[in-house]
Amino acid sequence: MSGLSADPTLFRWTGGPDQTEDPTWAVNAIQAGGLEFTNDGTPDVRLKVTDTGQTAKPGDCLTHRDGTIRVIPAGVAPNACRHCGDDKYHHGNQWHRAVGFHKWIEPTDEQRKDRMKARALGGEK
Ligand SMILES: [Zn+2]
Repeated sequence: MSGLSADPTLFRWTGGPDQTEDPTWAVNAIQAGGLEFTNDGTPDVRLKVTDTGQTAKPGDCLTHRDGTIRVIPAGVAPNACRHCGDDKYHHGNQWHRAVGFHKWIEPTDEQRKDRMKARALGGEK
């Protein structure tokens, strides 16, 4: 298997030395400042998307589509809210920095697919 020729749009970030599959776009984004590490070298290491302020924890997935990098939190349900990732049935009206107060909003088809891939990479069904 060659991790270099296949450049996946979605990968699981481990935050540790076991990370073996950084895609080219992620490496480029780190070099260009589009992704930055915080608390590097500690158990609280995070990977922040500087454009959106979204932050990945180890085990979360990142996708790259149409020039935008998005974090897919580990364990998020495919049908969870487009903006905050909460499940429809206990969402209610809540605040999210990107959209303010909102009710559950249907995720896009791409989001659903990415979330399913992310769950598969995380060993979830
Ligand atoms: Zn929401």
